[in-house]
Amino acid sequence: MIKQLAIVGGTHGNEFTGIYLLKKWQKNTALVERSNFTTEMIFANPQAYVQNKRYVEHDLNRCFSQTDLGNNQLNSIEQIRAKEINQQIGPKGQPRIDFVIDMHTTTTNMGPTLLLTSKGKFYNQLAAYVQLHMPNAMISCDEDHKSNEQHHFLSSIAMDSVMIEVGPVPQSVLRHDVFEQTELMTMLILDFIELHNQDAVPQLPKSITAYRYLESIKLPLDAEGNRAGMVHKDIQDQDFMPIKPGQPIFVSFDGEDICYQGDRVVYGSFINEAAYYDNNIALSLLEKVTLSTD
Ligand SMILES: [Zn+2]
Repeated sequence: MIKQLAIVGGTHGNEFTGIYLLKKWQKNTALVERSNFTTEMIFANPQAYVQNKRYVEHDLNRCFSQTDLGNNQLNSIEQIRAKEINQQIGPKGQPRIDFVIDMHTTTTNMGPTLLLTSKGKFYNQLAAYVQLHMPNAMISCDEDHKSNEQHHFLSSIAMDSVMIEVGPVPQSVLRHDVFEQTELMTMLILDFIELHNQDAVPQLPKSITAYRYLESIKLPLDAEGNRAGMVHKDIQDQDFMPIKPGQPIFVSFDGEDICYQGDRVVYGSFINEAAYYDNNIALSLLEKVTLSTD
């Protein structure tokens, strides 16, 4: 039974969609209220928003491992903010809030994506419900073998949570379609939880297709660590499409194709994500999986 839920926006200060959705819902809280749980709204990183940045000192969505929350030596703006949020809705391990929905956007062509960081029938049914009512929704499982304690995401404060990623939208930009898709996905998650609380989950497809995270691939770098190439045009915008062994995934600045070295078909996501340039991460590789709803 989920009794207390929090919707989080602005975990990254330049992802405007979640921030403006919170503003909308704060004016009309009935939109996010349901009959059998309470809903709170949290603007996670207002300082980064004011500075029009993803974060000021540290990526807030990497600050919530149990160890880091307990480490008082860590006191950057985001590390302090993480502890405040943990006090407000946690504490992690024994949280006041039962469920967190954390809204993000991506510059990549992922469309509306529901990110699951935990496993189980509840999540599979939730994902199937969302997809049933939103056929273009993609389902991605992100290190769902990890325990909450190990996860460093804000949403991992609660025992149960999901993240929403919708794109493509540039950083610090609002797009009507992305705004609508994020709102619809949030509404469907709230509706599902209300039904689940009532033990009234409707008939769902027996199984759905999802994409499970395998690893992140870096941009080609030279011996000094400088970028030596970029994402290949053949995979640009092709999120959730197959990447075959031997297929070009990068091109060097000299124009030479650099090919995928794996030995089986995988799928890409976060392909050429602007926010990952600071770590030179070019894309995530995923495998196609089937989630069963019974
Ligand atoms: Zn984000």
